[in-house]
Amino acid sequence: MGRTVLTFAEIRENELRNVSFEALAAAKDISDGGEVVAAVAGSDDDSLAETLFHYGADRVVKVENEILDHYTNDGYFQAYLQVIQTVKPDVVILGHTALGKDLSPRLAARFNAGLISDATDIEVIDEEVVFTRPIYSGKAFEKKRVKEGTIFATIRPNNIQALDKDSSRTGEVLTEEVVINDLRTVVKEVVRKATSGVDLSEAKVIVAGGRGIKSAEGFKPLEELAEELGAAVGASRGACDADYCDYSLQIGQTGKVVTPDLYIACGISGAIQHLAGMSNSKVIVAINKDPEANIFNVADYGIVGDLFEVVPLLTEEIKSLKVGV
Ligand SMILES: Cc1cc2nc3c(=O)[nH]c(=O)nc-3n(C[C@H](O)[C@H](O)[C@H](O)COP(=O)(O)OP(=O)(O)OC[C@H]3O[C@@H](n4cnc5c(N)ncnc54)[C@H](O)[C@@H]3O)c2cc1C
Repeated sequence: MGRTVLTFAEIRENELRNVSFEALAAAKDISDGGEVVAAVAGSDDDSLAETLFHYGADRVVKVENEILDHYTNDGYFQAYLQVIQTVKPDVVILGHTALGKDLSPRLAARFNAGLISDATDIEVIDEEVVFTRPIYSGKAFEKKRVKEGTIFATIRPNNIQALDKDSSRTGEVLTEEVVINDLRTVVKEVVRKATSGVDLSEAKVIVAGGRGIKSAEGFKPLEELAEELGAAVGASRGACDADYCDYSLQIGQTGKVVTPDLYIACGISGAIQHLAGMSNSKVIVAINKDPEANIFNVADYGIVGDLFEVVPLLTEEIKSLKVGV
């Protein structure tokens, strides 16, 4: 039974975010020979559609209206509603990102449909689409399905493997000029915060610091290690509360939820609220001078020691390995 699966691609600084490709892979998996349609809004760059084909889309819908250059719930809701009415999908997949979290409940409610949020896996069992999602702050997983109607889902970034790029794939591009009325909010200006380095929520490697780093300057050795690894820098709430770093770096129950391939926790005790944001990382390395620290209970590799000695040694070792390559 072929399904039509619609994904909404996300763009940042005119580049497609990885979660767009992960959504296509999930869509392909459950389409059962049906059609994978990717919708993309807020850019007139034709190469984005091509890239979506390379990662698994059969058809791309370019959603056009200048209001979509900046995200607003009102504008995107009206635009995506029209796309869904045109494509008539069986399943709609968005990223579990700021945009997806904001928009998916409103879209699902409009169709009186079921929404599964924050899925880490999607599969077809006995011809039904079944989603896996974490519960109890990541301590358990539940499997869920939508009983009837259109299925809406958001997928957690970095969990579903994107398909390998196939540059020979092409498909049909359709342009959907959408009508957007009566906006209640408009974006007047976007003031970017000065950030450097890799985006935390999509990073494959994260070096995170806790209260054990002792000061804002204490982040320096972590930043140097991150630089060598091409990693993003994150933090515990302990470090944020102590004003060692900005709250945008906070990982955990009330911060960002991350699932990198490698998470290096430095001077973090491993409170349950922190674990809620990182315990599903594929490999966890903990550096802590207290051998009883709870972080060691979730770590794959533990180093008992002073982070100010261990982290620079790691950085040096990685540098020397690179020289050998
Ligand atoms: C409702 C609620 C929500 C919360 N949400 C979050 C959240 O989203 N994220 C989050 O992180 N926390 C959250 N917290 C806070 C959480 O309970 C902890 O207080 C916090 O995670 C502790 O941060 P920490 O591990 O950096 O600090 P600490 O618990 O103080 O641990 C510091 C660690 O550093 C080690 N250390 C010290 N010096 C060194 C050194 N030189 N070398 C190596 N190790 C060293 C110590 O042994 C210790 O284990 C929340 C709490 C509540 C109540």
